[in-house]
Amino acid sequence: MSSPPKPIRHGGCHCGAVRFEFVCDDPAQVLDCNCSMCAKTGYLHLIVPKENFKLLTSAEALATYTFNTGAAKHTFCKVCGIKSFYYPRSHPDGISINLRCIDEADRPEVVIEKFDGKNWEAARERV
Ligand SMILES: [Zn+2]
Repeated sequence: MSSPPKPIRHGGCHCGAVRFEFVCDDPAQVLDCNCSMCAKTGYLHLIVPKENFKLLTSAEALATYTFNTGAAKHTFCKVCGIKSFYYPRSHPDGISINLRCIDEADRPEVVIEKFDGKNWEAARERV
């Protein structure tokens, strides 16, 4: 028996210049990270494989910010400044979607786990 196809979900930034679609597990694991960046933005990470994510709007609408190792590409909307998804250092083959930027009707059930991003190297071993 194969499981039924997962529903396509949508999300994006505040102004609509950045929109995307994706599929994920339901319930989905979500990471609540305490690193210097996530603590300030309240970002909640729902990580999906790259192939389960599709940007629907132009990549031109995105600006990229990097810090520390530069491995993570923090992409945010040039117009409204909202970071609705980005390319995380912890999952090089994945996309991290901000749970808070998923359309309300499309939000999966979630299991939120703490990620100790302040102590990134040690925390990564446990995920
Ligand atoms: Zn925007």
